Amino acid sequence: MAVTDKAGWTAAIDGDRLWRSLMDMARIGATPGGGVGRVALTDLDKAGRDLFVSWCKGAGLEVRIDRMGNIIGRRAGADDGAPPVVTGSHLDSQPLGGRFDGAYGVLAGLEVVRALNDAGLVTRAPLEIVNWTDEEGVRFAAGVVASGVYAGRFDLDYGLNLADREGTTTLGRELARIGYDGDALCGGYPIAAFFEAHIEQGPVLEHEGATIGAVLGAQGQRCYAVTVTGEEGHAGTLPMALRRDAMVGAARMMDGLNRLAFEFEPTPVITTGHVQVRPNSRNTVPGRVVFSIDARHPDDGVLAEICVKALDLCHGVAAEGGLQVEIAETSGRDTVTFDPDCIEAVRAAAARLGLACRDVYSGAGHDACNIQRIAPTGMIFVPCKEGISHNEREAAAAGDLAAGCQVLLEVMVARAGLA
Ligand SMILES: [Zn+2]
Repeated sequence: MAVTDKAGWTAAIDGDRLWRSLMDMARIGATPGGGVGRVALTDLDKAGRDLFVSWCKGAGLEVRIDRMGNIIGRRAGADDGAPPVVTGSHLDSQPLGGRFDGAYGVLAGLEVVRALNDAGLVTRAPLEIVNWTDEEGVRFAAGVVASGVYAGRFDLDYGLNLADREGTTTLGRELARIGYDGDALCGGYPIAAFFEAHIEQGPVLEHEGATIGAVLGAQGQRCYAVTVTGEEGHAGTLPMALRRDAMVGAARMMDGLNRLAFEFEPTPVITTGHVQVRPNSRNTVPGRVVFSIDARHPDDGVLAEICVKALDLCHGVAAEGGLQVEIAETSGRDTVTFDPDCIEAVRAAAARLGLACRDVYSGAGHDACNIQRIAPTGMIFVPCKEGISHNEREAAAAGDLAAGCQVLLEVMVARAGLA
């Protein structure tokens, strides 16, 4: 897929080399189900990092590790004092994750450098390829922390002192243990632009037959814990009419929330994924149920309206059933809108390459959502099979991965300029 632009330069990424790199990386932490378990700051994460660093050095990059353990491979520019054009994603995964979530964005960046090396091209501004530490937030309960520190969203101390779920260690101590407690500055310097390539992790591109997603931004998210309290009772002796069954109330709320989603266009996603029942006994009427609500929508105003209706609905159901309900907001994040020029650059590159492209929103959070706070940012999505992700069965076509990588090369070179 060689491309010559108006200025006459040619550089083609090598799709086979990209695929081989992805498969070599996927061997580290390979799971029996064909996926990857390379949880952040484990020995497997260290092995993945070591491999990436060796590849960066092989491609002539200058490697530095910053205070949050982010690995940054830098390719000098002709004007090396200019702010770099940066790309990257994450090599850590879910415990039973896939081979492409995160790793694709890191290794696509590496392939861009390799392709420029092959073509003998030097950009005006330097290029940087980043592996962000602990995107997934599996062990330390908060994802995208290291890119958050880099972007000034979190303090360095907050990031390094995050405790693991067992409370036995911290992110900073684990970084030291695997030898990635670097001393380079974590952020704090200007960057020209940031682009992240990623599998879509949803079914829209595949469904619409598009190869490239120009990502407009990421949905806002609101999360709640709903506690429904009724009265426990004997399943055999308490007549139906006299019950205050917390489970029945919670089930009606969940059904109502599911219906509520379809009242809006575009349709939000509303999920209950976690339920606790007390006493959780086969022959006792449940006295208390705690369940989660996760609501997401690309418009903050609409999301706020959805949440008001959702909470009203829960209160209404509780009142009808003689139940008490308490609702606590547990987390949330506002909608993210990416930079219009970066979005347009992705569309334009796809058009030049003859690739079917459509605008999409990200349903998930990404490191790019942090970096957009400090620099013009865009994301490039490629399809994944059936939209399946955070799953060992996650799959993507080599041709689509190569196409997204070529788009990444084009947008980075366009931003950085050629010497
Ligand atoms: Zn990811």
